[in-house]
Amino acid sequence: MTAPRLETQGLSLGYDGAVFATGIDLVVQPAEIVAILGPSGSGKSTLLGAIAGVVPAMGGRIIVDGIDVTEMPIHRRGIGLIFQDALLFPHLSVADNVAYGLRRHGMAKEAARERAAELLDWVGLGGYGGRRVDELSGGQAQRVALARALAPRPSVLLLDEPFSALDQDLRQRLAGEVATMLRHEGLAAVHVTHDAAEAATIADRVLSMTDIATGFDHPSAI
Ligand code: ADP
Ligand code: MG
Repeated sequence: MTAPRLETQGLSLGYDGAVFATGIDLVVQPAEIVAILGPSGSGKSTLLGAIAGVVPAMGGRIIVDGIDVTEMPIHRRGIGLIFQDALLFPHLSVADNVAYGLRRHGMAKEAARERAAELLDWVGLGGYGGRRVDELSGGQAQRVALARALAPRPSVLLLDEPFSALDQDLRQRLAGEVATMLRHEGLAAVHVTHDAAEAATIADRVLSMTDIATGFDHPSAI
């Protein structure tokens, strides 16, 4: 039995000491995509932020590939994160957006450029590396964000409503394509969304925010 890629043990969520969800035990296996459904304000972004380390966890542990990363900084957790907005760097080319994290982690320029080109091919944007990001459509920008998140080879990818800004057809198509890509790479993915159809398209398992927490004290989740 290989270790789960991601495990949370008794994770609590909240802000400034006010906890709104407790006892979150989530286990995601290699190549498994779990979708978590919840209405706006139910804590989906907070959950992903706590796993990634951009928001402090109010309690509990986060384990990636058998290693406790709870106290580790974001860039050492082996976790990639993509958001509703692609949040690309507007002053960098498409290829430099993808290579950015690699260069910051000390990868040589030429190696980073090759890895970026490989990733862009993989998301169907081979040949787009020299373009400006403001020439991209919304769907293309999200593919670039995906390539950027995957460039450092994370073990776990967290997707925070990544297709919400796109129209329905594109959303369904991209969700299907991304699911195929993630399974091929053997990553674990947690995809949060308020869209049940998108969750069903992408995920092996669909859970709700209220299911995964033993304690939930939040008006918007009821
Ligand atoms: P979702 O992503 O499901 O819409 P969020 O995780 O963004 O939900 O929000 C969960 C709860 O935490 C909401 O009540 C929200 O107002 C609150 N919240 C979100 N971000 C912060 C923050 N930075 N500081 C304080 N409270 C926050
Ligand atoms: Mg959110």
